[in-house]
Amino acid sequence: MEDQWEPYLHRYPWAFADRETLRGRVGSYVLRSPEGTVLVDTGVGPQATGAGGKLLVELENAGVRPEGVDTVFLTHLHGDHLGWSVKPDGEPVFPEARYVTQAAEWEISAPYLGPAVAALDDLGVLELLDGEEPVGEELTAIPTPGHSPGHSSLLVSSGGEQALVSGDAIVHPAQATEPTWNVHFDMDKEQAARTREMLLAWLEADGITVAAGHIPGSGFGRVVRDEEEPERRYWMTLDTAQEAEDLSGTDVFRGGRS
Ligand SMILES: [Zn+2]
Repeated sequence: MEDQWEPYLHRYPWAFADRETLRGRVGSYVLRSPEGTVLVDTGVGPQATGAGGKLLVELENAGVRPEGVDTVFLTHLHGDHLGWSVKPDGEPVFPEARYVTQAAEWEISAPYLGPAVAALDDLGVLELLDGEEPVGEELTAIPTPGHSPGHSSLLVSSGGEQALVSGDAIVHPAQATEPTWNVHFDMDKEQAARTREMLLAWLEADGITVAAGHIPGSGFGRVVRDEEEPERRYWMTLDTAQEAEDLSGTDVFRGGRS
């Protein structure tokens, strides 16, 4: 572990598997909106791993059946965000849903999407967005490019409060302080860093709750200043300390830093 990681290792011990390894997670979010149930991202899925996956089980445990999902919002089209979209037989996993993503993301990804996702277009369930657009009464897609060209986040505005499901714009709590630290999968690293800096400033200024699918635990947090070091931003997890401690026993993937 390089010295520059040391302060984060102490501040966010739950976000490291050990001194050399970051801890991550592949998570989706379910939103209840005036138009119905929205699922943001569909995980790794059975086709990529060949070994199933937990998304459908976890949805069932949360009282959500596949036919009860009205909208699937895909922040971007990397393999760990779209796995439970189409079944091996070509039918959609969520039979009543429209699948929403950015046109820019679809076009750039089309050559390598493969049948797992390309079928969405043939099935007539694909809805492509052009930049910042409403996805529902309380939901707005906000372009957050860099991790991928058409990456977008989903802003929830409800009851006077706001939350942002941020996809892979922020994948580790250390990035709240170090927006220029990229992950290996950031396709345009300079753009990703610019987006992250803008995003962090906005999230902090407006006190927006963030839902970050790769951050261990629930992934819910806020971007805050530390009173002792007001020049720096930090990630404040909204999990309790106990929940964060308990993460050592959870099933997570181990993502190396790059
Ligand atoms: Zn990802």
